[in-house]
Amino acid sequence: MTDECLFCRIVSGAIPSTAVASSDLSFAFRDLNPQAPTHVLVVPRAHIATADDVRGDHAADVADLFVTAQDVARREGLMPDGYRLVFNVGEISGNTVPHLHLHVLGGRRL
Ligand code: AMP
Ligand code: ZN
Repeated sequence: MTDECLFCRIVSGAIPSTAVASSDLSFAFRDLNPQAPTHVLVVPRAHIATADDVRGDHAADVADLFVTAQDVARREGLMPDGYRLVFNVGEISGNTVPHLHLHVLGGRRL
């Protein structure tokens, strides 16, 4: 947890968010500026900066992001239609928050 990191502060509850799902290793909350009827961000509770910073010893954290995204998809009724999962990396991709986050998008044709 770093005091300056927006998503660390959301995980700790210091900044409010609308929770959708939670596990020991991940936290899922609604995106403030949704791009689809369902737009949820799944973040590791541990601070990892970006997908480009993931290392072998993050295996459990990263696997749990996907399992929590599946939980989000079930809770939001996105299956069996499907959904989109996105990680942005670097300025050119539009990445703005330097704490790893998996976008879960669905509820319309993308
Ligand atoms: P990215 O562009 O991949 O870095 O995604 C960052 C996402 O965080 C954007 O979709 C923003 O709308 C979202 N976001 C920024 N601040 C907040 C916040 N306080 N609560 C929820 N979502 C946020
Ligand atoms: Zn962080």
